[in-house]
Amino acid sequence: MIIEKLLLHVLIVLAPILIHSLFFSDRQIGRPSYFIGMLHGLTGSLCMLFAYESFGLYWDLRYVPLVLATLYGGMRGGLVVLAALLLTRTYLGGDALVFGYLSSFLAAAGPMLIVFRFNKAETKWKRVRWAILAGLWPAFVQLGILFTYIGVSDKYEFLPSKLIYFIVIFGIIQVIGSGFAALLHEASIEKYRLQEEIFRSEKLNTLGEMAASIAHEVRNPLTVVKGFLQLMQADDKKGQHTYLPLVLSELDRAESIISDYLNFAKPQLEKLETFELGGFLKDAVQLLNPLALKKGIVLSCQTDAPITLETDRNQLRQAIVNLIKNAIEATPEEGSVMVSMTSYGSEAEIKIADTGIGMTKEQLAKLGSLYYTTKETGTGLGTMVSLGIIDAMGGKTVYSSQPGKGTVVKICLQAKAYSS
Ligand code: ADP
Ligand code: MG
Repeated sequence: MIIEKLLLHVLIVLAPILIHSLFFSDRQIGRPSYFIGMLHGLTGSLCMLFAYESFGLYWDLRYVPLVLATLYGGMRGGLVVLAALLLTRTYLGGDALVFGYLSSFLAAAGPMLIVFRFNKAETKWKRVRWAILAGLWPAFVQLGILFTYIGVSDKYEFLPSKLIYFIVIFGIIQVIGSGFAALLHEASIEKYRLQEEIFRSEKLNTLGEMAASIAHEVRNPLTVVKGFLQLMQADDKKGQHTYLPLVLSELDRAESIISDYLNFAKPQLEKLETFELGGFLKDAVQLLNPLALKKGIVLSCQTDAPITLETDRNQLRQAIVNLIKNAIEATPEEGSVMVSMTSYGSEAEIKIADTGIGMTKEQLAKLGSLYYTTKETGTGLGTMVSLGIIDAMGGKTVYSSQPGKGTVVKICLQAKAYSS
């Protein structure tokens, strides 16, 4: 039966992909490879050797490996398969030898013409679509060659219905085979990419730990220098050292970057304290009021019924301050930033709403990833640290934003549970 034979061929043409993904992990789209060519060339030849013979023709899936090798192994891969097919065809011989050569060359031309397009396709599905299209092409070529051969050989006056049935089955299985093989290729490439990503993030992790230990060591001398500079400023009655405030503010900045970094490396809740959230928020807002005033922004704070939390107060302050700072920085003059708190039984919701520039969906998706910043002097750490801290506290953060209108950050935290 032709179907059985062709389905067997589908299995044969899938084999090199599995072999390649099992033993080799250097998968990349667009990298020319003789090796892929050799594997697929072998299966192409196998298909031909175990072809289904009928109507004096060989029915096999030899062109699926040709298409795949050209697309995934580049021009070189395709040429190797073409050579293998031509050699096997020569070995098989027969009276349609010239037609066999002709159809091989024509079938190879199609995928070779689209390989550049294929390499440029960004998504997996686009590539699979190209592969299916490339799988259709040899089917048409074979059809054309078949008609020519029949016309030349004068064997049939009209096409027998069985031959039509063969052609249809053959076309369908060829296209399905190419699509399925392309999907397998893509899966193996995806697996490889995932592995790479894991290696990379492990490397980043070690780097992060190293940086954290350095940051920790740098913080101590920095504190000492800052202390002495503050003493100098206090002694400097004549105001000779006009640059001292600038030096101090830069030191503050360095300190805050370091503490952000340390928190990023390991947000741990060290000292648990019990405190009232409303007062805590008012303190945080007061801390940032000078910054808001300087920018000409109204920063206000509204609190609901008192609610008590038990968590690391300093960490929470850092998280909230980071978020309010971002809101202030995103808001133009005469805008407003509103910090409010509502309690829902055992839960408290802190809301930071600004009337700033807002974020697009793409920006929102990137928010909170390492080093993502749109500011010239930004570090891209603040949001990530804040989210990490709130997460460590068992809280939840939800952003909603509209470009040009503003951003709302909602933070849900669990209140302290009293056992009565
Ligand atoms: P940084 O403040 O150093 O840039 P963050 O991690 O704190 O780093 O913020 C990352 C980016 O997210 C900012 O550069 C900004 O583009 C965007 N962002 C954060 N909060 C807001 C907000 N409230 N409104 C608009 N954009 C924001
Ligand atoms: Mg920030």
